[in-house]
Amino acid sequence: MPEYTLIRADMSKHFSFDVKGIALKVAGEYYIAIDQSLSGDQLDMVYKHELSHILLGHLDRDIETAVKEREADEYAARMTDQEYKKLQEMAKTTLAQGGNPCDNVNVVKKRQNKSL
Ligand SMILES: [Zn+2]
Repeated sequence: MPEYTLIRADMSKHFSFDVKGIALKVAGEYYIAIDQSLSGDQLDMVYKHELSHILLGHLDRDIETAVKEREADEYAARMTDQEYKKLQEMAKTTLAQGGNPCDNVNVVKKRQNKSL
């Protein structure tokens, strides 16, 4: 699992469709953006799903969307609390809402290497 930057942002400002989380790879760096409104179980569910996309190499290979989503859901459902905690600690930076973090999402949302 590579290091990644966690971004909490108002996703509705940056996407024309409903998206709560996204995993991205930009210039070799991994990012997970999660809507700032999420908390508790909902946050954990989205966070685990996006972590799974990175873990399973979905940003590094060309895989059919339906397959990626199923695999990420399955992996997220099996993720132990211990693994989840460990993966959360691998976030090298956490960027709160506003300013720069949203720019990251904006720049890359049209690129190929993304998984919702
Ligand atoms: Zn997904």
